[in-house]
Amino acid sequence: MENLARRRCNFVSSTTCVMCHSDVESTDHLLTQCLVASHVWNFFGQLFEVRSGPSSMRDLWGNWRNNIKRPLSFFWDLLARAITWNIWIERNARIFSSSCASIASLIVKIIHMFLIWLNAAPDSKRAKLEEPIKKIKRSLEFVTGRDVGHHVPPEASSYPGEV
Ligand SMILES: [Zn+2]
Repeated sequence: MENLARRRCNFVSSTTCVMCHSDVESTDHLLTQCLVASHVWNFFGQLFEVRSGPSSMRDLWGNWRNNIKRPLSFFWDLLARAITWNIWIERNARIFSSSCASIASLIVKIIHMFLIWLNAAPDSKRAKLEEPIKKIKRSLEFVTGRDVGHHVPPEASSYPGEV
């Protein structure tokens, strides 16, 4: 983001974060510190009893990640990528498409992407992660049952029980 602005490729007229509208946007802010990012990290953190989310991208792939025990480190590597990738997609959608998904909808998208990536992982990796996989699928039912409604893609119903 900072690089885009420097190269004048940034079409955003303001440096204010489009997710929270209350702080200057930077990579660390958008993906780890923003109110929206914090909600998302806390949701998954509470689900898997992981202390609060990372404080920066350096922390995410450094100290924060090092505190996660195997085999959950593989699980969280995928999940962290799905979280950051979907926040980035949502940020771009807000800027370039003027669309705005709810946090619940964002969480659903993250879980869907995570489950697709998990399906592509070797069986040996998945075998050790039965419990957390069950947990994240149950959370998907919980979140979709709340307020996301039409945001859920129709193919979502094929995920539970697939892995
Ligand atoms: Zn923000």
